[in-house]
Amino acid sequence: MRHFAIVGSGPAGFYTAEALAKAYGEQAQIDIIDRYPVPYGLIRFGVAPDHQSLKAVSKRYDQVAEGGTVEFIGNVAVGKDVSVDELRGMYDAVVLAIGAPHDRKLGIPGEDLPGVVGSAEFVGWYNGHPDFADLNPPLDGTHAAVIGNGNVALDCARVLSKNHHEFEGSDIVGHALDALDRSAIQTVTILGRRGPHQISMTPKELGELGHLEVATPVVEGADFPPVEADEALEPGHRKSITILRDFAAAGADAAKPKRIIFDFFAKPLRIEGDGRAERLIVERTILDGSGAAVGTGETYEVPASLIVTSIGYQTPRIDGVAYDERGGKFANEQGKIADGLYAVGWARRGPTGTIGTNRPDGYEVAELIAVAMPPGSDGGKAGAAALVKLPEDRRIKATSFTDWRTIEAAEVAAARPGSPREKMVRHEDWLKTLGH
Ligand code: NAP
Repeated sequence: MRHFAIVGSGPAGFYTAEALAKAYGEQAQIDIIDRYPVPYGLIRFGVAPDHQSLKAVSKRYDQVAEGGTVEFIGNVAVGKDVSVDELRGMYDAVVLAIGAPHDRKLGIPGEDLPGVVGSAEFVGWYNGHPDFADLNPPLDGTHAAVIGNGNVALDCARVLSKNHHEFEGSDIVGHALDALDRSAIQTVTILGRRGPHQISMTPKELGELGHLEVATPVVEGADFPPVEADEALEPGHRKSITILRDFAAAGADAAKPKRIIFDFFAKPLRIEGDGRAERLIVERTILDGSGAAVGTGETYEVPASLIVTSIGYQTPRIDGVAYDERGGKFANEQGKIADGLYAVGWARRGPTGTIGTNRPDGYEVAELIAVAMPPGSDGGKAGAAALVKLPEDRRIKATSFTDWRTIEAAEVAAARPGSPREKMVRHEDWLKTLGH
């Protein structure tokens, strides 16, 4: 018998559990540990609330959690309630699947002014993450800016640009929907330090901007290289560039009051304002021979009282686990950090790829584990029997998947009409629902 602990219940954690369950059958007990009593990590707290079809992947994870050899152990914070070293003493292998929930910093003056928020904070706020329920981003100005040219920047710009009606069917949390209803923002500028060819936005997500009810994309045709240059691009990426070119050719839809402006070749230098963010000072760039952005010395202002930095994420450090400073992830070789200690997902690769990318990633690490400790072998570890005892000593109350089902039912029951659920956004409310 083998005991495995997977830390983190997002996509990477669940795919790894699925792979281990398949590889070991009844020969292993797999525990997915999460610091929250609610599972799914990025699916619940990261994927945009108006992308319900993406969130539906959690149904597959439910089958894993209810398949017999996988347990969800919630409300246990690894690194705080229990250390990684302690876990390694209890389990044959520990797999860190904690994602990359921390914002990378721009490192420019003014970044700490009120009104400047990281995308993890902003996304967490509208997705009901308990750490950001009180973020209260300023929506009283007419101009916002989003820094970065990835899909998360698109999520943030889109959420800021939709009207109430467009959130129907979503599970955006009530506090965010109310605040956005009162928002004065009319212009969202998306800043990219490089050009249209260098965006990391994907076609489906980019295309959505063309179908918003009250907002219209504004793209400058002069920012593009000659159209023949698109031929060298990978087909999916070429599709994104074609969508951007179409936006430029169509021009802004005058019937729509809100603007989503793509400002390319725009490198933020500093953020200014009187006690709060009021404007970004930006330097125009050009690309050098290697494709890097180089400042031209020409600067200009972009007004913005809300600035969302969306420039990528980092995995938090955990005591005793080797860390790759440059990559912002755990130091690992193909997923292995040390004997019996592994990383999967963004904690392994860094914050790139779709939800589906985590499936082969999880299966690969499960395979490494199966080679190191073949199914049928015994490691003599106690697994959850030791873990559940330890947190109780520290007055920690672990929760189960059945407990999550109780919370889920309460969230579904509280949903506003047309919405799948109204998420609880306070840790204590989850626990109260369970009678803890
Ligand atoms: P990302 O795709 O890596 O984009 C980060 C952006 O930040 C890039 O445009 C990058 O520009 C820019 N950037 C980095 N440092 C900067 C700096 N100092 N100043 C200005 N700009 C800077 O990351 P993401 O948007 O956070 O997304 C993370 C992953 O999740 C991606 O794989 C994404 O596709 C995925 N995702 C998918 C969906 C979906 O499928 N619907 C939704 C959200 C996220 P450079 O290229 O110049 O470095």
